[in-house]
Amino acid sequence: MGGTEQHWVNEAFRTGWVVPLGPNVDEFERLLGDYIGAPGRVVALSAGTAAIHLGLVMLGVGAGDEVVCQSFTFSASANPVVYQGATPVFVGSEKDTWNMDPEALDACIADRERKTGRKPKAIIPVHLYGMPAKMNEILEVACKWDIPVLEDAAEALGSELDGRRCGTYGVYGALSFNGNKIITTSGGGALVCPDAEAAARVKFYATQARENRPYYYHEVTGYNYRMSNVCAGIGVGQMDVLRPHVERRREIHALYSRLLADTPGVAVQQNPSAEFNSNFWLSTIIIDPETGHTPDEVRVALANENIETRLLWRPMHMQPVFADAPYYSTGGVEEKLFERGLCLPSGSILTDDDIRRTAEAIKRALG
Ligand SMILES: *Cc1c(COP(=O)(O)O)cnc(C)c1O
Repeated sequence: MGGTEQHWVNEAFRTGWVVPLGPNVDEFERLLGDYIGAPGRVVALSAGTAAIHLGLVMLGVGAGDEVVCQSFTFSASANPVVYQGATPVFVGSEKDTWNMDPEALDACIADRERKTGRKPKAIIPVHLYGMPAKMNEILEVACKWDIPVLEDAAEALGSELDGRRCGTYGVYGALSFNGNKIITTSGGGALVCPDAEAAARVKFYATQARENRPYYYHEVTGYNYRMSNVCAGIGVGQMDVLRPHVERRREIHALYSRLLADTPGVAVQQNPSAEFNSNFWLSTIIIDPETGHTPDEVRVALANENIETRLLWRPMHMQPVFADAPYYSTGGVEEKLFERGLCLPSGSILTDDDIRRTAEAIKRALG
């Protein structure tokens, strides 16, 4: 916490705005819109998952449709596709950013059209661990096939590509403020919309799709997805620390990179070129099998020193729940990442000494 969150939460109580709308929600949306470069187009919601879901609703995704999704991600990127009765089609990653491979995306769409006679209804690339996906290339493919992009920027608030903030590349962009993200509202999310009109429609869907009449009247299915004014108070306070948090995550990443630079068989993930500017939500490493150690052995060794690490996301095409979904491989890039990668402690409150202790423990585990 930065310090002012409690004040805004108290304001919600003092003024009686303990409901899923109110001054904190409006202010949080305004601050987010200004920060990300989408003023008047950000809608605060109850979760990032809700944001992805409403993005799909807005894009008209429904039963029988297919939606192309990055396989290397958290399940929340793909679950909303299923909520809509649609089928996720998974695409593998490229090596530079670990995100959706634009060439595999193109081949996937061509194949889906050949096999089903229809194009997928939407494309969901993800900026995993904060690393921007190759959005220019992905948008080129999306434009060629005339398919809208819904960007999963849940982990990438503050990340930039060519100086432009992640979450503003797609027709829609989803953000998350879950407890583990770069800023938090305890639980929450937001949808970046193409214009004010779309934002108004998203708010309408998020508040049970009540038509403007003196009695309750509904023409379409609604959702209870709006952010609480209490949670938004936390969000308003957190906006004070967003820039310092992003800066600190980048410092932590730079420190890990320096400390592990000479460790054989360990590579810290890096921005592939100057256009990419990850927020480094999590610092991650790849451990070469030639070290004779698996990431899980390192994870257990560090756990014994009271240091928590996690394996990278297990790809969606390897999850039992998505066993039937079509999958377009890029030669196993994300499968290898899952086999060889580890997420390191990366929280903004960690001290340089914490990072040094972790780096030393990694070296010992591999020694
Ligand atoms: C956290 C996360 C989400 C979901 O956000 P919630 O706010 O937890 O619902 C979606 N996609 C990715 C990649 C995430 O990391």
